[in-house]
Parts: sequence; C-alpha cells; structure tokens
Amino acid sequence: MAVPTSWGDVVNAYLDYNATAPLRPEALSAMLPVLQSVGNASSMHEPGRESAALVASARRQLASLLACSPGELVFTSGATEANNMALRAALTRGVRLITSAVEHPAVLQAARALARERCIGLTVLPVGSDGQLAVDAFHRALQDESPVVVSIMAANNETGVLFDIEYLSKIAHDAGAIVHTDATQLVGRLPVDLSVLDVDLLSLSAHKFGGPQGVGALFIRRSLGLPQSPLLHGGGQENGWRAGTLNVAGIVGAGAAAAAAQATMGAEAERVAALRDLLEQAVLDRIPGARVNGCRERRLPNVSSVTFPGAPADAVLARMPEVAASDGSACSSGSPLPSHVLLAMGRTAEEAESTVRFSLGYATTHADIQVAAGAAERAVKEVRAILGLEENEASHFRDCSQEAEADAAMATGTGVRHG
Ligand code: PMP
Repeated sequence: MAVPTSWGDVVNAYLDYNATAPLRPEALSAMLPVLQSVGNASSMHEPGRESAALVASARRQLASLLACSPGELVFTSGATEANNMALRAALTRGVRLITSAVEHPAVLQAARALARERCIGLTVLPVGSDGQLAVDAFHRALQDESPVVVSIMAANNETGVLFDIEYLSKIAHDAGAIVHTDATQLVGRLPVDLSVLDVDLLSLSAHKFGGPQGVGALFIRRSLGLPQSPLLHGGGQENGWRAGTLNVAGIVGAGAAAAAAQATMGAEAERVAALRDLLEQAVLDRIPGARVNGCRERRLPNVSSVTFPGAPADAVLARMPEVAASDGSACSSGSPLPSHVLLAMGRTAEEAESTVRFSLGYATTHADIQVAAGAAERAVKEVRAILGLEENEASHFRDCSQEAEADAAMATGTGVRHG
C-alpha cells in the first residue's frame, strides 16, 4: 500500500511509525467532511447534535478495538495528557508510585513531578539487558503496606519490548494496587482486550495507529469508581473528566483508524513482522558489529532498534536522507542526553548514541526495506570511514557482538542492571 502522504523527493522509505504513523486513508476520508462542516458537540442545535453523534460513533469504534465500554473512554489530546491524567486520578487512591526505568517521559516525568508535589514515594524499577522488567524487584516493591499505584508500559517505544501486563497487573492487584498501563505503542498493532486484560487505566494515542496527531484517550475502568480528577477545569465535557470543546474531526479520524486497524490487525502484524525481520537480518548480515536491542522474542512486530558501534546515529541518519528513521524516540531527539531506555538496559552512552530505531507499519513495503538496508549499510560505512575506523577494527565488532549476545542470554529473567 502506498503511503498516503508526500514528503517531496527526499524520503523514499518512511520507517518512523513509532514517532507517527502516516494517516490511514480511512481516517482521512472520514475526517474531511467533518472538517468542512462541524458543530460544537455540546451544542443543542442540529450541527451540534450531528457532531455529538459522530463523536459517539468514534467512541464506539475505539471501544470495539479495546473491548471496553464506550463510556469508559475519555478523549484527550494524546497519550501525554492521558498518562498525566491517569497518574493524577489513580493517586486519589494511592500514596506511592511504582513505575519502570524505561517508561516514556510522559509517565516518568509526570511521576517524578507528582512525587515531588505530593511528597510521596516513587519506585523506578530496573530492567535487564534484554529490556524486560525485573520482576523480583516488582514483587519487592509491592510488599510495602501503603496503597500503591503501578504504571508500567505495555510496549516500549524505542525497542518494542513487550511487558507482560496481564501477569504484572495480576500480581499488582493481588497486592491491592491500582494499575495503569501506557499502551500507546501497543494499541492498533496487537490485540488489546480489556474484557480480559485487568488494568484499571490505559492510555493511547491515535497517531500511532494511523489516526491524526493530537487525539488520544484514557480508558478508566468504570467498576473502579474513581472520582473525577481533571487536569483541565472548565466545561463538563467528557463526563467532567476533560473540559474543552471536543476535537470532533480528530476524534472521527481516531475512530476510523481504530476500525481500520481492528479489521486488518492479525494479517498486518504478520506482514510487518516479516518485513522487520528481513530488514534486521539484512543489517546484521551486512554491517559488522550491528546488534539488535531488546528481547527479540517478546517485541512489537514493527520495531527494530539496532546499534551500529562506532557510528553515531545522528551522523548515520544524516547520510541516509532517503530513509525516515529515528535516533531513539522522536520525543527526546534533539536532547543532548543518550536514550534513558538503552542506558537502563546497560548499554554505554556511546552505544546508545550509535543506535537507530526503525519502525514499520501498515504501508511499509518490501521496497522500503531494500532502500533502508542499502542506505544503512552505506551510511554506517561512510561514518566509520570518516571516524577512521578501518575494516579490521570493524571486524572486531563481530566478536564483541557475539560476546554481547552471550551476555544477553545469561541476563534474561532476573539479570538486572540499574539504569
Ligand atoms: N507514551 C509512549 C509509549 C509513546 O511512544 C508516546 C509518543 N512517542 C507517548 C506516550 C506520548 O504520546 P503523544 O505524543 O501522542 O502525547
């Protein structure tokens, strides 16, 4: 499928779906008429009632994707807002927060700010070298008597590593905790069934699954009976949870993208995983020392985080303008700091800075993979040559990567390095 967007003549292969997926054609065609004539969804006149009906329909589409009740969804401006709202709401029932070292800043920074503001305890759990959560540390953190809020992501945005949210929420609930998951990178890519997955709160963002930017949602389990704790005070929209005029066109686009993702999910995940594996194998075969980050068996189907030792990612990406990929996550690119996710996994700052994230999606083609593999091989070679790394040094990387693989195998499960 062709990407329904034009980036001019430069980009041939768009592989940055974890930053933003191109708008799905279904979302675009659902949104266009709404953008042309939209009423305020709170107005009582005909255009207002039409808008309210469109929002209700989009809410049902999103609820169907998640197997929850439409009334359990609050539309937000994205996952950042949903995460902030979730933590604030959950803390009406808890006096301590547990999260992980590899969360998106929209959880980590919000958790730090709330902990400071309310003088409450914050436990940041480490991960192993494969990016998996240190489950022993999680058990220990839950032993404290005080009521606790757990916020653990479902899928990591940089490595694609999946946490076992079903298991983690079970043990957290057994300890009386309230559980939030940031499922921003999971929703629309792999099934999420909230009739089975026993989390209390879940955040998502439409632009990760082909909806428009600036629309997200927070699932709040009704049976929990959480009191309203809005971030924004104003009108009573979204049952008092989120004041402000609804972004009707955006919400309609989110609903259409959810429906499209739901209709194609299984086949799409399989197709995308096969392309990802092809790309990964090509770069591992052709680029000495290249090494994949994160547990390869428990990952999103669309992500590959690859370290190219001796080749800083910003220089590599600058030499492959025909490919849109990312050095770490888009939210922190431009930051002078190396990825906190890779550091938490025990990578050195130099390794973290030599890491490229390729993320694929519904419109990725075989041709994109060929372009990306060729461009990465050429760019890494050029950067290493500029930095004076000769072939014999490059072949040394091969030995290092074998050692690293052995390390990673040893470190699965409880092998924890503190980030
Ligand atoms: N959480 C995760 C895991 C993400 O990947 C992102 C987006 N990079 C966010 C939260 C924030 O989403 P948004 O920018 O839509 O608010």
